[in-house]
Amino acid sequence: MTANDVTMPAEGDEPRPAGEITWQDGNVPFSPHFGDIYFNPKDGLAETRYVFLEGNNLPSAWQNRESFAIGETGFGTGLNFLAAWQSWNSDLKRSRRLHFVSVEKYPLSRDDMIRAHQSWPELSQYSKQLAEIWPHETMLPGVHRFSLAHGNVSLTLLIGDAIECWSDYDGNIDCWFLDGFAPSRNPDMWHPHLFAALAGASNPRGASLATFTAARIARDGLESAGFEISKRKGFGYKRDMITATLPAPNVDNDNTLGLFEIADDPWFNLPRPKKTKSVAVIGGGLAGAACADALNARGLAVTLFEKADQLASAASGNPIGMLEPYLTVDDAIMGRFYEAGYRFSHRKIKKLSNQGLVEADFCGVIDLATSARKRERLDGLIARLGDKPDLVEALDGDQASERFGLPLPYGGVFYPSAGWVNPPSVVRAFSDGIDIRLSTTITAISDAEQGKVLTDENWASYGPFDAVIIAGALEMQMMGQTSWLRDHLTPVRGQISFLPEEILANLGNGSVIKCVLSHKGYITPARDGLHVFGATFGRDDAQTDLREDDHAFNISQLGKVLPDVAEKLSPDMLQGRASLRTTTADHLPLIGPAPDFDAYLASYGDIDKGKKGARYIDAPYHKDVYICTGFGARGLIGAPLAAEILASEICDMPLPLEKVLMHAIHPARFIIRGLKRRQLTA
Ligand code: SAM
Repeated sequence: MTANDVTMPAEGDEPRPAGEITWQDGNVPFSPHFGDIYFNPKDGLAETRYVFLEGNNLPSAWQNRESFAIGETGFGTGLNFLAAWQSWNSDLKRSRRLHFVSVEKYPLSRDDMIRAHQSWPELSQYSKQLAEIWPHETMLPGVHRFSLAHGNVSLTLLIGDAIECWSDYDGNIDCWFLDGFAPSRNPDMWHPHLFAALAGASNPRGASLATFTAARIARDGLESAGFEISKRKGFGYKRDMITATLPAPNVDNDNTLGLFEIADDPWFNLPRPKKTKSVAVIGGGLAGAACADALNARGLAVTLFEKADQLASAASGNPIGMLEPYLTVDDAIMGRFYEAGYRFSHRKIKKLSNQGLVEADFCGVIDLATSARKRERLDGLIARLGDKPDLVEALDGDQASERFGLPLPYGGVFYPSAGWVNPPSVVRAFSDGIDIRLSTTITAISDAEQGKVLTDENWASYGPFDAVIIAGALEMQMMGQTSWLRDHLTPVRGQISFLPEEILANLGNGSVIKCVLSHKGYITPARDGLHVFGATFGRDDAQTDLREDDHAFNISQLGKVLPDVAEKLSPDMLQGRASLRTTTADHLPLIGPAPDFDAYLASYGDIDKGKKGARYIDAPYHKDVYICTGFGARGLIGAPLAAEILASEICDMPLPLEKVLMHAIHPARFIIRGLKRRQLTA
């Protein structure tokens, strides 16, 4: 929104940083850089309701819908979001769920946002809930997903530049709120490329749009992106504003032919969601439990199948797992995925821990510069994020020793928000209230008239279910639909060792390990009298026996950073635990619908020739079967986000990740790569 009566910075004044805000009339944020206010101090809420809600025919447009998605340019204080949420909540005919996806390059701090909301006491109950989920930490670029109103309202924030973010986001947006600063003050938010991106992120069945301005730059840009424009009376004294509709394409409206241009990567297009009420999840580790939780929170009936006689019996059964952030130095895809995964997990686990449902300690993690290469990476992190001590802090050797509690040979960095978690408690919390079938080994998934039926090794059958998620490596290889993944999933044996706390006490200097230390391995503070250290990485080793050799390896790794401790240890005195993790060749997990391997080969067999303008059918899947596996040792920071992705796919919600990452984790990527490199033939 904008006011026409604010002053631009006086000529000759220093340009002000774009994210800086000052305050006018008490609680009205003002951007000195853009020379504009965030909302009209007198009638801001009335203007929001008139321009964006009425302009998009809300509340009518969401009535009797299962799900409705609003997209916005410029989240700012969230006033538009709060107004939409309030209107939705007071509408008896509202859609079952409301999704709000907005972009913001300069997110407000929590305190500033709370202050801005003071202008709107009637929104206070919504504002309070938003403030509760708003991160205390700096929000890094990327997609941030928040859940409100018991999961019925989702807020997805694309942090970054509007054009870049909306160009790389598959939104399925039903209506748009265009609310950058005034076009004359912020032309970037009214750029033709942005409008083209919004058209691309719209619901293919059509979308509406409203904005407070009727400036030519907006009208022309929207028209050239395919929107049909109408002018209407503006709010208050403003003469005009614009509303618009993006019609559904005439031809092949529902894409019944399923044909896409090659540029669209049709092999990664997601199946069109149908109404799903019941889901079977196969695999009772962290991934399966996270999926069960995400679906259960959305009101779906979930049955969780586990072959062992208890949940969390494999890698998720370790007593301690590091909750270490993966912060990126560059744009590498794997880093971007796990950076998003960490912030999602961290928020979720912190909330459960505050409720006493998960055992965790956010004591911080030191990441040591154990080699020149590692030093370079950590220096890169500090260069990128060193001004954000809430995320990462540089430590020299003395500072690292002081934080850790024992002398350390090098410096490194400290992640203050991180720590350790007891993974079985996370699995327990996630699977609370779920229908759990233990000691049940599912061997096949078949189609019946009413849905998917599962069969176990004793020929007992379960179902029908509307959808199935296979969340486990072994399970993946067992099922006919996914057995081709055998070639792409590698078991990696990992043994951890337990260090009794007395051994440290006997060192005689009264020191206590105060935070997690990540070096080439890791060591944690004590839990129930034991520190955990490790771990080994035995590629292609699928055995889980405890080995003295592996303890010896863990001791020798520890000796490189804590020689006095390692000296007191011998393999024969240690307890430990060995389990398998599953990795993929590109170190990214497999999350998404299950590709029909043979149909992929038949449909895309000639893509290695890169035919220009070729038309291909939409991705062929095993209907209603989904995959969730391949997190390696990063299940804690990968599985909760994976579950959110799958629940969004199944429940027709906006996705919690940008397109490039969605493609990078898509289970069909190995088939497509194989075809393009001619390693696979039809
Ligand atoms: N809708 C907001 C509300 O309800 O409070 C007000 C939005 S304010 C008028 C415009 C917002 O756009 C500001 O928060 C600003 O930081 C953001 N912005 C400006 N340029 C941007 C860009 N290129 N990409 C993303 N966000 C941008």
